[in-house]
Amino acid sequence: MSFEKQSLGILREALGRLEEGFGDLPAFDSDADMAGLRRVLMEAADKLQDNYPYHHPLYAGQMLKPPHPVARLAYMLAMWINPNNHALDGGRASSAMEKEAVADIAEMFGWDTHLGHLCGGGTIANMEALWVAGSLHPGKKIVASAQAHYTHSRLAGVLHLPFQAVACDGRARMDLNALEDVLKQRDVGTVVATMGTTAAGAVDPLPGILRLREKYPFRLHADAAYGGYFTLAGNLDEDTRQSFDRLSEADSIVIDPHKHGLQPYGCGCVLFRDPSVGTIYKHDSPYTYFSSADLHLGEISLECSRAGASAVALWSTMRMFPLVRGGQFARGLERGRQAALMLFDKIAGCKDYFTLFRPELDILVWVPAARRASEMSLRSKKIFHSAARRDLHLAVAGFPKEILENILDVEWDRREITCLRSCLMKPGHVDWVDHIAKMLKDF
Ligand SMILES: *Cc1c(COP(=O)(O)O)cnc(C)c1O
Repeated sequence: MSFEKQSLGILREALGRLEEGFGDLPAFDSDADMAGLRRVLMEAADKLQDNYPYHHPLYAGQMLKPPHPVARLAYMLAMWINPNNHALDGGRASSAMEKEAVADIAEMFGWDTHLGHLCGGGTIANMEALWVAGSLHPGKKIVASAQAHYTHSRLAGVLHLPFQAVACDGRARMDLNALEDVLKQRDVGTVVATMGTTAAGAVDPLPGILRLREKYPFRLHADAAYGGYFTLAGNLDEDTRQSFDRLSEADSIVIDPHKHGLQPYGCGCVLFRDPSVGTIYKHDSPYTYFSSADLHLGEISLECSRAGASAVALWSTMRMFPLVRGGQFARGLERGRQAALMLFDKIAGCKDYFTLFRPELDILVWVPAARRASEMSLRSKKIFHSAARRDLHLAVAGFPKEILENILDVEWDRREITCLRSCLMKPGHVDWVDHIAKMLKDF
């Protein structure tokens, strides 16, 4: 059985328990058209077959994985209530669960106090962080590495803040000399450090960035949407570890529970070290926030209505898998990184491919051997398609000459190379490395 279905019985049981809480109410009719439901659901299931097999270890492409069963079940359970975590009127219990879950994430980063909440995803979380940054340093530049998620330059545009990209070194990390050159212009308000780039899983050198902050004061925002949870992993390289160990010194952090936190989509998280930034969110709403004097999460969030079910799913997952070093959740991340290192070694020993960067997290990037940049790119795309036809699903990513020129001995007939890329996000990937490596030899 590849789709886990056994746990659905527990959902039925939990629904009974939930219903007990409303047992005093007079009965009312709530019937469903079973035949109609069945017909439409079967049709939906047929349509959904047109997807890559994200749940299977041979899907080793983009950062996609199904949520853990506990998250799926808790989310569904909450759907019978459909709480809205905007105001306490809409989700009293689920708002409390959100506050608890978010405080645990803040604690994972070493923060006893914080301001923060869940939101739709990394994009909106980063937007809030940059909006707060822009409110504190109006008109000043936002800078992020050239490998940072494209969302930062776009969000700076949305917020009408100037943006500048900082060059990367040969490991796809922010280059500190390039950063200092930009800082010397004295017009930078915020530096965005990426803790795990989307393309290569590269971690910007936080100790060096923090050293520069002493000389050129700026606000530091950490985009840990992808990599944040890796702070729990016990098998990072020393320099990566040192960057994660300084994360608590950032002013704001974004992390995506819907990437590595085992959650369904629609679950990002933004955290601020200084709770007083909450005043920036201040607004007067004539029709909410009257049921309680306690904090309504809508008072510190740009989004209004938000899925309380996301909070219920995250809270339940963290109950089952607490965010502790050495715990089961941390071991899952460690296994992903172990898988990436194992595949890195196998590919490095193969004459048909070149590996590019030693994986810092669980993302691996490599290229097929060829003389010219254009041939390499073409071969990557061909391998991507032939692998997919044989049920091995990889991804591709383009890297510029500036990053690769000291790593690859190649004729640069174009300025970018399309590379093969694999996110080994599932703990089970480690058992499939041999199989994947063998398949790669055949293309
Ligand atoms: C995924 C990602 C984002 C965007 O987050 P979404 O959840 O897709 O909106 C931003 N930054 C980084 C580093 C990411 O990996």
